[in-house]
Amino acid sequence: MKIQILTFLLLFVAVTVVAQEDEPMRMRPQMTEIWNPEISVITPGETPADAPSDAIVLFNGVDLESEWTSGDGSKPTWLVENGCVTTFRGAGAIKTKRVFEDFQLHIEWRTPSEIVGESQGRGNSGVFLQGIYEVQVLDNYNNRTYRNGQAGSIYKQHPPLVNVCKAPGVWQTYDIIYTAPRFNDDDTYFTPPTVTVLHNGVLVQNNSKLRGPTEYIGIPEYSVKKHGPGGIMLQDHSNPVSFRNIWIREL
Ligand code: MG
Repeated sequence: MKIQILTFLLLFVAVTVVAQEDEPMRMRPQMTEIWNPEISVITPGETPADAPSDAIVLFNGVDLESEWTSGDGSKPTWLVENGCVTTFRGAGAIKTKRVFEDFQLHIEWRTPSEIVGESQGRGNSGVFLQGIYEVQVLDNYNNRTYRNGQAGSIYKQHPPLVNVCKAPGVWQTYDIIYTAPRFNDDDTYFTPPTVTVLHNGVLVQNNSKLRGPTEYIGIPEYSVKKHGPGGIMLQDHSNPVSFRNIWIREL
């Protein structure tokens, strides 16, 4: 009888210990809810193309000089009329006065309705992120060129996933999400720049990793140099390409 009582007591103690050990493992829904800090409230644009309340408007269709300069720092000479800005042969690139690291950029562009040239010579411009990484702007509506150089490409590095170009003379959109590189002490990338691009609302670059700055001739890796924040630069490639409704959100 004593043995039975002892066995019962030992079993009772064992069950109690196990039950106590299990207690901390019993999760409740509230234990994985994070309430603070509260998420910032912003006001969205009327449509996804319109700037939300926390965006910096880089071009509103009228005023170019407040946010942009020519490459040499002088006033930009690009033509501002009818709510857009247009480059012309010899105008040179323009760049933002502000500089950026990680961002979300919205920009609308239009290639000339009058078709002139072919391949890279038709409606060529470009959106340079931090001034050195080009998202190609090109009229690829019924216009073949090399796949890693067409509209929506990271020029000479990543072709777009699809060709979603609209016809010449029709406004198109880029929504670009960019993460700047982080560097090692020897000036190589610790993490490379990454770019996501939606062209006319369609994903054409999916978190693509850049190999280095854009090169027309040569290997991108060879020109990697440590750099800080950089501006947005728009390319003059001698074709009269127009831009409008440009805004950016720093991330
Ligand atoms: Mg270009």
